[in-house]
Amino acid sequence: MVNIEKNLDTIISNIEKARLSVSAHHIVKLVAISKYSTSDEVRSVYECGQRAFGENKVQDLKEKSDILSTIPIEWHFVGRLQTNKINHLLEIDPFLIHSIDSYELASEVDKRAKIKNKTVNILLQINSANEDTKAGICTQNATEEYLKIQSNCTNLKIQGVMSIGAHTDDTKDIQKSFEDTYKIYEQVQKYGANICSMGMSSDYELAIKCGSNMVRIGSSIFK
Ligand SMILES: *Cc1c(COP(=O)(O)O)cnc(C)c1O
Repeated sequence: MVNIEKNLDTIISNIEKARLSVSAHHIVKLVAISKYSTSDEVRSVYECGQRAFGENKVQDLKEKSDILSTIPIEWHFVGRLQTNKINHLLEIDPFLIHSIDSYELASEVDKRAKIKNKTVNILLQINSANEDTKAGICTQNATEEYLKIQSNCTNLKIQGVMSIGAHTDDTKDIQKSFEDTYKIYEQVQKYGANICSMGMSSDYELAIKCGSNMVRIGSSIFK
């Protein structure tokens, strides 16, 4: 637990340095990804002041949010969303779903949100490195798809984009994938987007320098 507090402090000060190198006005939000952690560990990070947490499996999100229901955590969903899990996810009322990766998936979520009379905050996930193994829409179609979701899915509130950096040790390639996502973010900002979710434990400082304003960090907090 002592470690967790120290890890969180280190990350917060690294985020601070990276964001100030962009601009004093560039604010970055930290989402602590708790997928490899227990509810007790989430609670101790919460007690250090952290409020936003994310999970990548609907079942884990349900379990942890149930166990921790007495504390006001802001829950994010960042994983692959199967159609048969959408209703379960909506029941949890997540603060933000980062991982909507197609118009079809958006429509499915929208349909169920309408039935439940809910509005759901989402991001469009972009596969900016064009990796077969990764979810996300390709960069070429991203802006068009974003606008289609925005105009047709009336129970969704699309707020921006999410991306996972290129899976490589080559910093240049990772940077390029962030820059490509950021270009799409700039396009959709004209239509009200305000969240650019990029950066994980291994690359969050680089992501911030490329314009990210939301980082999703797991292993370096909970290690
Ligand atoms: C696991 C995960 C993270 C956090 O990854 P770390 O490398 O542990 O910081 C961020 N985003 C998504 C989508 C994830 O699945």
